[in-house]
Amino acid sequence: MDKTTLQSTLESYFTWFHRHPELGFEEHKTTARIRELLVQAGVEILDAPLETGLIARIQGRPGGPVTALRADIDALPVTEAAGLDYASEHPGCMHACGHDFHLTALLGAAILLREEAETLAGTVKLLFQPAEEGAGGARVVLDTGYLDDVDEIYGLHVMAALAPGIIALSPGATYATVGSFRILVKGRGGHAAEPHRCKDPIVAAAQIITKAQTIISRGVSPFDPAVLSVTRVLAGTTWNVIPSDTLLEGTIRAFSVEKLTGIAENLGKICRGAEESDGVEIEYTWRINTYSTNNDPALTEWAAETAKTLGLSVVPYPPTMGGEDFALYQQRIPGVFLNIGVGSPQELHNPGFIANPAPLSAAAELLAALGKGAAARLARNSRPPWRNFHAG
Ligand SMILES: [Zn+2]
Ligand SMILES: [Zn+2]
Repeated sequence: MDKTTLQSTLESYFTWFHRHPELGFEEHKTTARIRELLVQAGVEILDAPLETGLIARIQGRPGGPVTALRADIDALPVTEAAGLDYASEHPGCMHACGHDFHLTALLGAAILLREEAETLAGTVKLLFQPAEEGAGGARVVLDTGYLDDVDEIYGLHVMAALAPGIIALSPGATYATVGSFRILVKGRGGHAAEPHRCKDPIVAAAQIITKAQTIISRGVSPFDPAVLSVTRVLAGTTWNVIPSDTLLEGTIRAFSVEKLTGIAENLGKICRGAEESDGVEIEYTWRINTYSTNNDPALTEWAAETAKTLGLSVVPYPPTMGGEDFALYQQRIPGVFLNIGVGSPQELHNPGFIANPAPLSAAAELLAALGKGAAARLARNSRPPWRNFHAG
């Protein structure tokens, strides 16, 4: 398929997906449409046990290496206000993170790879992943075992502020380790006129919120990025009653599990201090939701070269405190997560976010080149030649 036809085909797919956003693990229409378009393109769909999302395969030389390309397919509970003539038709739901762009680009890569299957040195698996936005889709996909034979994996995310078609990538961790916490402060409620007969959980919670701000500002190097935000406070029912309890929730983010764990443990110490000083009881729990992405340095260099060969501009990717569950694949499979500019007037997750569809065919070509090129390289020689430079 020539580039102009590919672009117009993908734009028509893209506007359909943009009109029909679905939340994590509810992507039934999206999955059905992806299936239909893959079948139309003659692409084999594997029998992976997934309720939503799917895994397809382009088989080249049997017994060759296996590479994977991943796109996420879920949308967000955001009411769209971007003024598009192909706006979301599902009230309260919007493709505000550009996953419609990702999955359309992967459909384009499927079309291109299908045409080139005879010259493919191995197998390329096409992974349309459900529920990236915090619902654990990557874990569900890994648990199917359908990626157990994959040698390398590549994925792509739109970048709002970058000009359309520019590729941004960097080695190492580019997306943060994301944790969440919950603090339930249990006091003793009563009459607001008699605070001395109560154990006021609001005052204790307020101390915790304020003191928590010092964990990073006073305890973590300014050169070591970390975030702690209290994002939810629930307490009380009216103005003259001291409530019995107060709930706090929030997030901790850093670029390593160790750093995040240290911050979370310090928050626990602040909670214990509040128990002591305010006479309340505190239930404190925290967990890691997503690990940092981890771009293999040699493969990152190779991916950048591949993009340049296709005539794309490549810039370094500034690390983000956002999370990305592509990290879970990278814990088992070497790979690269890269970004493509879509020139949006608003940031990701904003109701005014707009992914310019102009670089869809370029994204498709890049994904296809990564899947195919990695298979060829792995078949030739299991290591890229410049890896020797890093060996010492
Ligand atoms: Zn998102
Ligand atoms: Zn996203």
